[in-house]
Amino acid sequence: MAVTSEVTLKSPIFPTWCPGCGDYGIWSAIKKALAESNIPEEQLVIVFGVGCSGNMADFLRCYGFHALHGRGLANAEAIKMANHDLKVLVIAGDGDTYGEGMGHFIAACRGNHDITVVVHNNQVYGLTTGQAAPTTPKTWKTKSTPTGQVEEPVNPVALAVSSGATFVARGYAGNIPLTTELIKKALTHKGFSLVDTFQPCVTFNKQNTHAWYNEHVNKLEEGRNLSDKLEAIKLSMDTEKLHLGILYEDTTQHAYHEAIPNLSKGPLVKQFPSQVSLSKGLQAYL
Ligand code: SF4
Ligand code: MG
Repeated sequence: MAVTSEVTLKSPIFPTWCPGCGDYGIWSAIKKALAESNIPEEQLVIVFGVGCSGNMADFLRCYGFHALHGRGLANAEAIKMANHDLKVLVIAGDGDTYGEGMGHFIAACRGNHDITVVVHNNQVYGLTTGQAAPTTPKTWKTKSTPTGQVEEPVNPVALAVSSGATFVARGYAGNIPLTTELIKKALTHKGFSLVDTFQPCVTFNKQNTHAWYNEHVNKLEEGRNLSDKLEAIKLSMDTEKLHLGILYEDTTQHAYHEAIPNLSKGPLVKQFPSQVSLSKGLQAYL
């Protein structure tokens, strides 16, 4: 089979996202990153969450799985454990990952599962028309918080770094070249990699607009010490500037499948090939 490219990824369905949505920029960065990563088509699996970003399942041609809300990471870990020769990418939103999927998110960080997660972080639930998400700032009025959000927002970077993730980066839909590079680096990282990506929702988030982001983002300089957890958390808590780039990286840790004796012998699908065939199960549908 062919190596994944923008041609192999081309789906006959054009996105249904609102005009101007940041999802287009992230879609473009994901396609470029995959096309430049030389991954054979049959070695790539993309797990999609539920939400506007998860609808990308229809807009990319690849082997994939459209998970239940909040369960993308659990499915991705299972796929990786069954065959850790595969490259496993998760594409999901902030509500899905840090709300319904919060327990799975922390578990994936703690286990250092060798999967890459690109989160479209727009600070709202977009597909369900603008309710408060776990990332919605305090006091914001939304459809579900008409008198103002009372809960503290989740800080995905600080949470990931403190929970054991070994690659944590921040991208921005309005900076496609940077986001492409971050996704490429995340895909080559061994262990759990997060690219939390700011994504303007032009329809339901009228505060974090493209213009607002362009004023507030700051691209971090190359060559910094990336192994300092406290520095990464400090940068993630800066309220004046939103720092983009790799905030934390640790290349010295074992990935989950390397630390489990049965998995370290080789991919399960190769250890037990006779149990891999789906033919018996498929007979039921013939
Ligand atoms: Fe994008 Fe928001 Fe429209 Fe969803 S609702 S497609 S996130 S602009
Ligand atoms: Mg969202």
